[in-house]
Amino acid sequence: MSLASELNPTARLLMGPGPSDVHYRVLKAMATPVIGHLDPQFILIMDELKEMLRYLFRTKNELTFAVSATGSAGMETCFVNLLEPGDDALICVNGVFGNRMSDIVERCGAKLIRVDAPWGSPIDPEQVKHALEKCNPKLVAIVHAETSTGVLQPLEEIGKMAHDVGALFLVDTVTSLGGTDVRMDDWGIDAIYSAPQKCISAPPGMAPVSFSPQAVKVMEQRKTKVQSWYLDLSMVRKYWEGAKRVYHHTAPISMVYALHEALRLILEEGLEVRFERHRRNHELLRDGLEKLGFEFIVDTKYRLPMLNAVKIPDGVDDAVVRRRLLEEFNIEIGAGLGDFAGKVWRIGLMGCSSTENHVFLLLAALKKIIGDK
Ligand SMILES: *Cc1c(COP(=O)(O)O)cnc(C)c1O
Repeated sequence: MSLASELNPTARLLMGPGPSDVHYRVLKAMATPVIGHLDPQFILIMDELKEMLRYLFRTKNELTFAVSATGSAGMETCFVNLLEPGDDALICVNGVFGNRMSDIVERCGAKLIRVDAPWGSPIDPEQVKHALEKCNPKLVAIVHAETSTGVLQPLEEIGKMAHDVGALFLVDTVTSLGGTDVRMDDWGIDAIYSAPQKCISAPPGMAPVSFSPQAVKVMEQRKTKVQSWYLDLSMVRKYWEGAKRVYHHTAPISMVYALHEALRLILEEGLEVRFERHRRNHELLRDGLEKLGFEFIVDTKYRLPMLNAVKIPDGVDDAVVRRRLLEEFNIEIGAGLGDFAGKVWRIGLMGCSSTENHVFLLLAALKKIIGDK
């Protein structure tokens, strides 16, 4: 076998559905010394990380930390710890990630009850209300920012309905966290998960999660063992909490550094300033795309600022344009997923990728390529 050459990937402009561009300070943090995962210095870093995550989720929840795996593991952590075989779970589905939740619910041995909305539309609270009249679920789960369609889901009303029937409210904030407001405590969210590679702009590989006291109680009253050893919070908690930490797995040290620095950058910028930046750059891109003849999939009211889903205009070749953007301009945008494959582009303006420069470069590149055809 000949020796593979040293890695030297081209720096791209990451304007897809994640990962987004990573700040040099986050990369620098990853290059600092790897220390032991029970070193007092590392435990301090874990504690600071938890405190910054509480600020970002806007929660006082004690059980707030980051799972050592990607966003999907954050999703799975929430479901496997809260559901037991035979429980009912109501899942709202209007895109890929609601479908993924449904799959996990069935793998937990729980009974799946679905409320569906067409791709590109939010879930209608009335439908959730009707569904809740006919079942008694342990939890109601929904995606705040559907990355497959570009829909921002209003949460408060559905959260209240869940609580009215005594169910927990579980929310996916993978794409929303760090790019638009997420208010865990004010909105009555009991279990939440996210990921760093969208609007937090750290590399993928961790999954911030938080659980309300009510959710913690449900976990503590389980009658059966959590089917996943790795994600069982009754053990993982002892590693992330308390005066004496107990080894469960080895935290991915450099990933924790990355998330720590990315959260520091968010706090430095300020949440409101950051959300406003995401709004402003979304509007700039929207105006430019509309001038080029693109149409948005989602109604103005429910559009995500960090994920712009647009119809590919007639006569524009999906694969050719995306390949030319990558090869000639080093710009990555996202293809359509699932029902939207081949019909839709998903243009991300997430975290460090939400800048005027990104918007102007993409618009100029698109103009050149589409003009060339
Ligand atoms: C990206 C994403 C996930 C999955 O996260 P991974 O880090 O890819 O495992 C889950 N939900 C939503 C809404 C996402 O956008």
